[in-house]
Amino acid sequence: MAILLNNNTEKIVPLVAIREGVVFPHTETVLTFGRTKSVAAVEAAFRNDHQIVFFSQKDSRLVDPDKKDLYSIGTYGTVERLLRSDSDLNAWVKGLSRVKIISIESTEPFLLAKVQEVPEIVEDTPEVRALAGNLSKNFQEAINLGKSVDVMSVMRLLGENPPQELADQIGYVLEIKTPDKQLLLEALSVKERLMMTTEFLLQEIKVLELERNIASKTQKRFDKSMRETVLRERKRTIEEELGEISEEDNELKELQQKIKKAKMPEIVEKKAQQELKRLSQMSANHPETGYIRTYVDWLTDMPWSNSTPNNTTIAQAAKILDEDHYGLEKTKERVVEYLAVMKLKQKNNKNKKTDSATGPTILCFVGAPGVGKTSIGKSIARALGRKFVRVSLGGIRDEAEIRGHRRTYVGAMPGRIIQGIKTAGSNNPVFMLDEIDKIGTDFRGDPSSALLEALDPEQNKEFSDHYLEVPFDLSKVMFVATANILDTIPAALRDRMEIIHFPGYTEDEKFFIAKKYLWQKQLKSTGLEKENLKIDDKALYEIIHRYTREAGVRELERCLANICRKIARKVAENKKLKKSILSKTDIAKYLGPRRYSSTIAETEDEVGMSTGLAYTEAGGDILFIEVALMPGRGNLELTGKLGDVMKESGRAALSYVRSHWHDLGIPQDFYKKNDIHIHVPEGAVPKDGPSAGVAITTALVSALTRRKTRREVGMTGEITLRGRVLEIGGVKEKVIAAHRAGLKTIIMPADNKKDLVDVPETVKKDIHFVFVSNLGDALKTALKSAVS
Ligand code: ADP
Repeated sequence: MAILLNNNTEKIVPLVAIREGVVFPHTETVLTFGRTKSVAAVEAAFRNDHQIVFFSQKDSRLVDPDKKDLYSIGTYGTVERLLRSDSDLNAWVKGLSRVKIISIESTEPFLLAKVQEVPEIVEDTPEVRALAGNLSKNFQEAINLGKSVDVMSVMRLLGENPPQELADQIGYVLEIKTPDKQLLLEALSVKERLMMTTEFLLQEIKVLELERNIASKTQKRFDKSMRETVLRERKRTIEEELGEISEEDNELKELQQKIKKAKMPEIVEKKAQQELKRLSQMSANHPETGYIRTYVDWLTDMPWSNSTPNNTTIAQAAKILDEDHYGLEKTKERVVEYLAVMKLKQKNNKNKKTDSATGPTILCFVGAPGVGKTSIGKSIARALGRKFVRVSLGGIRDEAEIRGHRRTYVGAMPGRIIQGIKTAGSNNPVFMLDEIDKIGTDFRGDPSSALLEALDPEQNKEFSDHYLEVPFDLSKVMFVATANILDTIPAALRDRMEIIHFPGYTEDEKFFIAKKYLWQKQLKSTGLEKENLKIDDKALYEIIHRYTREAGVRELERCLANICRKIARKVAENKKLKKSILSKTDIAKYLGPRRYSSTIAETEDEVGMSTGLAYTEAGGDILFIEVALMPGRGNLELTGKLGDVMKESGRAALSYVRSHWHDLGIPQDFYKKNDIHIHVPEGAVPKDGPSAGVAITTALVSALTRRKTRREVGMTGEITLRGRVLEIGGVKEKVIAAHRAGLKTIIMPADNKKDLVDVPETVKKDIHFVFVSNLGDALKTALKSAVS
């Protein structure tokens, strides 16, 4: 039985500090106590007369708070029942009235406090009654919105309670922090307490409403997708019953048929079916459907078992290569040999029941642009009755370009190998990898290693593309690579390849190629076939000499195309052609003034200059070396975008000259009085290599001795400090280039004599070769003896 305190009556009762929350008067609750002092206080109260007071702590972290750590107003109440668990004590307590601490009587074994009741101000006005009614209504609304309150409290609150009790009871179940609850406890005016409680409750209602809104939206969305799935299924069933097919299904069926038709290997088909299943389960608007469809398209479009028959004889192949190309005898021979070996291997493999078709080596055509590399590749395909695809590797730096991007990338695509195979539409095409010398490496991976995997017959039976995800068998593909120069091809790749050099054409070869092939080709492509238009030989030579200077025939073909286009325009405009044979004099009308006005041989001999022979990406070429002397103190300057090796040649040349001053007839101290500048014009083109040694020395000696250099003499050769001339490479290309430029004499290292067998007779007969093993002999030929 609770004993109420009278006004101003002081009482000494056990005090329990509450860490979290507030005990309100007019409420009943079960509290759990763990702290020794709290347990002792509750037990003592229960043993005596059940009376107790609860005060909330200002700081919930304090374990043993004293008076100053407690709020000043607390609740007086009784302990009704106790229930002990392992370490805790559960007590059913009743809150009765508000009290304040007068003093703390003792602190051990628990707090014993003298307290006094704080009376409430109960305004019995219509306003307070209305406030109470409103609060009750709001509370019901909160319950309806899902506020979680224990059933007992709800039951109690639904009854008719006096306003002061109602406020306390609702205050007790509000989800607010301890300081806020304390504010309610300390609000002695019932009107004020009702207003504060209502405010807190309204805030809670707002939050509850918001939560319900979000939950219902989520639910709605979920319901919608469930509904769609069910409806879609139902629609399908109805359509099946009616024998109708929806557009979506149509598409799926089409894909299904494509999968059947593609004759894929088992694992690929399984993959395709899996993806198709995913697709059929997705709503048409799902963002992923597009990606999956493209992927399945790729799978079905690959020529898994599409190959062209392979029954050409070697004799036929040789005939086709001859038909398509003029000259290139050695190259064609090598290609035919290669095809023969391939055929034999294939035969052997058939007996062994394996079908690797290409053998371990890959052909690599090396030569300047326009020398017929692509064209021979196409011819091989024609000869073998295979499809031809060409993929350029120039500028590739990323492994993914070869092997594809993973499908998780936005806009992912298979790599160029797989793309090429798809374009070919057969699994045994002739596959040309263009510009293999121009692939690079950087942080995005090494494309050449991916390429190696594609080319290696040991691995390419199961070539894996990141996008495709399933392996593709490349072992029947015949890979052919092309490059302008050998040096920059990654060594590992070069190792795999059989190199075939395309040395470039002599003028006569160009003439015949133009006459027999290019002219006809251009007439055909400009629609002039019927006009029976001819070009005479002199006109062709005029174009070759004066409008082109190249190792291949690309520029020449362009010139002819240019002429044909202009004539085609006239024909189209119904103008009558004056004549059906173009002569030398007509050329300038179509191509404008001559681009190369004179050949080297026609220019004057000069001092401080020489003509070197170089071997570059564009094939063989000639280059001029200039030397200027000026008063100074022996500084050597080298310009013209020269590589390190070429600069070293320059220094070696100077050292040679300094140490042979006597033999050369130069003052011993010439370098003390002069600065020397060596320049190689056409500064935009990088130049390197040791073979300019002879030419640099010649120009230097010419400048120092004032002896003129013969312009029609071209020279090549590496030098040593002691004046020996060493062997160089690219003889055939260099000689053809020299011939093209009109040089009459070529100075060449004696050790290179053997290489002349490769040089066409037509060229050799026009050129006088001087083979030298030391610089003295070279200078004797290159320099004019008379001092002018
Ligand atoms: P590359 O691939 O070496 O740069 P292309 O094969 O594209 O050169 O050749 C350029 C053009 O010259 C092509 O139209 C090609 O048919 C033609 N051509 C090159 N060499 C010959 C040749 N020996 N006989 C006939 N046509 C040739």
